[in-house]
Amino acid sequence: MKVVLQNLTKVFPSRDKKAGGEVVAVNDFNLEIPDGKLIGLLGPSGCGKSTTLYMISGLQKPTAGKIFFGEDDVTELSTENRGIGLVFQNYALYPHMTVKQNILFPLQNLKGSDKLSKEEMQERAYNAAKLVQIDELMDRKPNELSGGQQQRVAIARALVKMPRVLLLDEPLSNLDARLRLQTREEIRRIQKETGITTVFVTHDQEEAMSISDMIVVMKLGVVQQTGKPQDVYDDPTNLFVAKFLGTPPINVLEGKIQGGKVYIGQDAVLEVSGTGDQDVIIGIRPEGFELAENGALHCQLSNVEVMGRDVSIVATNPASLNPVIRSIINADNKLDVSRETVSYNLKPHKVFLFNKETEERIRCEVK
Ligand code: ADP
Ligand code: MG
Repeated sequence: MKVVLQNLTKVFPSRDKKAGGEVVAVNDFNLEIPDGKLIGLLGPSGCGKSTTLYMISGLQKPTAGKIFFGEDDVTELSTENRGIGLVFQNYALYPHMTVKQNILFPLQNLKGSDKLSKEEMQERAYNAAKLVQIDELMDRKPNELSGGQQQRVAIARALVKMPRVLLLDEPLSNLDARLRLQTREEIRRIQKETGITTVFVTHDQEEAMSISDMIVVMKLGVVQQTGKPQDVYDDPTNLFVAKFLGTPPINVLEGKIQGGKVYIGQDAVLEVSGTGDQDVIIGIRPEGFELAENGALHCQLSNVEVMGRDVSIVATNPASLNPVIRSIINADNKLDVSRETVSYNLKPHKVFLFNKETEERIRCEVK
């Protein structure tokens, strides 16, 4: 099922009664989600992710704009009639019911032509449970399950009605690190097996990057960039997106363009064409550094952290806007850790230039 969001806007009265005014939680959101794809909706807390998801689900009514499922305008349709499955961070299972009863629950309220026989309900519940691999746990109560298992029950409950669209709001946030990794792979597998168009909300960029066909990065209710995870990472539209994606994060420095060269302090680090002289903000991905004797960029060496396959070199430079510059270098490169300085050449495709005032990307050729 293709999902289209058209000029979607949500304005709330401010929660701070004294201050008054309004909060534009989602501002003119446009997106076309292709049939069968998994979209990662990504951004810091408060940027409007949940509000967007609740509008798709019908739990909240947009202030303006339209929502289409396929060719159907569902903007005015109630949640029950949209054919969606919802999964929340806190599982929201019924504690007094068994796993099986929890999964069956949405089917028992079907009415009219949707009504199922007892056998059909049982079969659907078992199929959903099997899909999320909890079919052995059907007679347990939620408090007899681990967090990961509880979230699987919640996913099975969302799937049992065979939704047209699956909506997940930070579904992994309550799980510990190892389970989070495992469950996200599970969600991806289930999504691929069922082919259900899915919107996955998270504030965790790594999570979104790892499982999404397409990510949408939001800030303060406004979509910043939409695209395949790798494309957005390799070609960020502004400093916010560049900083939000990647671990370790991008290194950010002050610099300038002068006479066709990019300068960091006195160091001419790269050549540039297609833009004029100006002060800029320079973003360098951690993997964008090459160790070089007499390299272009000179830094003070602070520390070398061994990570096995790679080493992380921690250095400082007066132009850096972060406390340190962190580069990731293949461990085969031997660096004398007792030295005081380190110098690098930069890989042009890992370096982005941003307008100092607007923080928008400067589109130019860096060599
Ligand atoms: P996210 O899920 O990205 O953390 P939300 O969509 O929950 O963000 O919230 C977006 C903004 O809208 C926030 O500033 C939040 O405080 C505000 N907001 C959300 N729901 C309400 C509400 N019911 N009333 C007032 N403000 C709200
Ligand atoms: Mg939220």
